[in-house]
Amino acid sequence: MYRIGIDIGGMSIKAGIVKDGEIISTKTKVTRIDGVLDTLIDDLSDLINGILNENGIEIDKVEKIGVGFPGVVTNKGYVTCVNLKLINQPVLDKLNDKFKNIKVSIANDANVAALAEYRHGSMKGFESGVMITLGTGVGGGVVINDRLISGANGIGAELGHLIIGENYYDCNCGNNGCFETFCSATAIINYAKKLIEENKDCKLYQVCEGNLDNLTAKMVFDLYKEKDEISVEVINRFKKYLAIGIANIVNFIDPDVVSIGGGVSNASNIILDNLSDEVKKHLPFKESNICDIVIAKFKNDAGILGASEL
Ligand SMILES: [Zn+2]
Repeated sequence: MYRIGIDIGGMSIKAGIVKDGEIISTKTKVTRIDGVLDTLIDDLSDLINGILNENGIEIDKVEKIGVGFPGVVTNKGYVTCVNLKLINQPVLDKLNDKFKNIKVSIANDANVAALAEYRHGSMKGFESGVMITLGTGVGGGVVINDRLISGANGIGAELGHLIIGENYYDCNCGNNGCFETFCSATAIINYAKKLIEENKDCKLYQVCEGNLDNLTAKMVFDLYKEKDEISVEVINRFKKYLAIGIANIVNFIDPDVVSIGGGVSNASNIILDNLSDEVKKHLPFKESNICDIVIAKFKNDAGILGASEL
C-alpha cells in the first residue's frame, strides 16, 4: 500500500507518493489563491490523481492521504491560513467527501515537519522532541511518545508566537515580542535593514547593491563570518533570542531533543556555536543537563514525508 503526503505552501503545492517511509515520486502545482475552498480541494484532487496516473497506481492502493497547511488546523479539521485566504474552512470534511474510502488527515505544516524528523530524521530514537522551524516565520512542533501534541483545540505548539521580549515592531498576529519577530529570516532581514538605514556606509548595503529589497538572511550570515559589524550585531541579537526561546521550551517541557529546521538552519555552524551554553544561562537550574540541540535532517522533503505519517 502507498501513502500520499501533501505540503501546501503559499507559492506551490507539493505532493509525494510515499512507501515504507521513502518518497518515491513527487509532483508540484502552483497554488491558486482565490479564497474559495473548492478551488483548493479541486487542485488537491487533480494533483493526487495526476501523480497516481503518472506512476500507474490505482487509488485503491492508497491507504492514507495527509496534508500539511501553513496555518492553524483545529482538531475538528477546520483550517485558517491567512496566506491562502482561508478563514476557518471545513477542509477535512471536504477532503473526506472527495476521498471516501481513504483515511485523510490534516495538520499544521510545522507539526508535520516535526513528525517527519521524529519518525525518520534528527529526532528519531528520542522519546520527546520539539522542532523549531526558522523560515519566513517561526513554526513549532511537539512530539511526545510518538504523538503530535497540538493541544485541546489544535492551536498549541505555536512556538513562533511565544512572547520572549519586547520588540520594536509588532508581529503579524497583532502581538508584540513574538519569537518569530526575533528569529525568523524575516526578523533577521528587518533588523539588518533598520541598522543599514542608520548607517548606509556599510558592507551589507554594498552587497545588496544599494537596494534593501535584495537583502537576504543568507547575506547577513555570510558577512557575519567576515566579522562585518552590522551583521555581527544582527546575528548576535538573533542568537540571543533563539537561546531565550529554547530556554522557554526547556523550562516548559524539558524535551529530550530540540531540532532546528527551516531555511535559516542552513547556517548550522553559526546557530549551534555556543547555543547550549546560552540556553543554560536562561535556566533556573544551571547545573542540570539539558536536551540535545540539533539541526533538522530534512529540508524540502519534511512536509511530504511528515504529512504521509499523520
Ligand atoms: Zn505573533
